[in-house]
Amino acid sequence: MPAPLCTLQGASLHGSALPPAQLFSPQSQLGLSKRRRMLLTQVMWFSALCTTVFGCPTIITRSQWGARAPRDRVQLSTPVPYVIIHHTAGSSCISQASCSQLVRGIQNYHMDSKGWADIGYNFLIGEDSRVYEGRGWSTMGAHAKNWNHKSLGFSFLGTFSSRVPSAAALNIAQDLIQCAVNRGSLSSSYTLKGHRNVNPTECPGNALYRDITQWPRFKAWGARQKPHPSMSRQSGMGWGRLPTIITRSQCGARAPRNRVPLSTPVPYVIIYHTAGSSCISQASCSQLVRSIQNYHMDSNGWADIGYNFLIGEDGRVYEGRGWSTWGTHASAWNDISLGFSLLGTFSSTVPSAAALNIAQDLIQCAVNMGSLSSSYILKGHRNVKETESPGEALYVITQWPRFQT
Ligand SMILES: [Zn+2]
Repeated sequence: MPAPLCTLQGASLHGSALPPAQLFSPQSQLGLSKRRRMLLTQVMWFSALCTTVFGCPTIITRSQWGARAPRDRVQLSTPVPYVIIHHTAGSSCISQASCSQLVRGIQNYHMDSKGWADIGYNFLIGEDSRVYEGRGWSTMGAHAKNWNHKSLGFSFLGTFSSRVPSAAALNIAQDLIQCAVNRGSLSSSYTLKGHRNVNPTECPGNALYRDITQWPRFKAWGARQKPHPSMSRQSGMGWGRLPTIITRSQCGARAPRNRVPLSTPVPYVIIYHTAGSSCISQASCSQLVRSIQNYHMDSNGWADIGYNFLIGEDGRVYEGRGWSTWGTHASAWNDISLGFSLLGTFSSTVPSAAALNIAQDLIQCAVNMGSLSSSYILKGHRNVKETESPGEALYVITQWPRFQT
């Protein structure tokens, strides 16, 4: 199959079955309007080929989004056996102009701050329902350490920890995978993975990750690939002992008024209690979390619920601000810590063993994902502020690893 048709879209006339001279030669007998019509026919023929034969979605080329030239290119040997899904963990976009701007910003970041040869991903997918060409079909990306030479990296523009991308964007990504197979860039017996299945990262976000596990040919672990040694195999989330996390949308959270990105890994994790009711079911814990969010936003005037995560005695973790947004839980510590709060008042009763275990799993998970430094220090709220929190009974955390007053 001829290769670069889809990427180049209408610009692919050099691949035409007709000799180019017949179209462009000044000696041509054809009149201008007739040449133009033929050109148009060619363009239509090629777009039709892209959509019908290769099944490729519209791809905004590098020149269309205003890319810088790459410093270097390494040829990818195709077809590759893997496709890896990412999120960009930044803003999302819904127009060609705003998505193009975002992609340019990501390219600058990858080239100037990370020192890479080019934008890391092979393609990016916007919620404007367009695909943006990154390194393209035949250049090795820089998106998943140790996997770049054998995979294509597709990244959704946005942060998809607590919500999934638009249905249109999800469909287009799947079209792009099919297109990759049809054009011979991806093996027809390919395996689909999330970034977190191959590197310790939260990417592509809990919500998006959950979605892609339902796509065709998804496999968290290959036959010979073993999970990271520091983690157990019994994971519902595909990466380590990640406890069940109830996302904001599952919990019915309100949108935050704003978000400040947390620069990770942070060196501290701070434990709280909510000093209110406790709960033992997903329904009652979700209700409690919603009311805490209302209190923090409406009475305290904060941008969102204060904590990064909340832990219920139902054995579930509830997403607050998540892994990569500053909390509002301990002034002067918000930018250097994650705040985990146990739902309930633990002055005289200790939380259930399940909740205590899950809190410790969540700390380990934070380390594994690179959100918390592996040399982190654990503290109780009372160690950073004059308060009773996290409660005398919960202050058993002094016995947990890496605790320091
Ligand atoms: Zn990623």
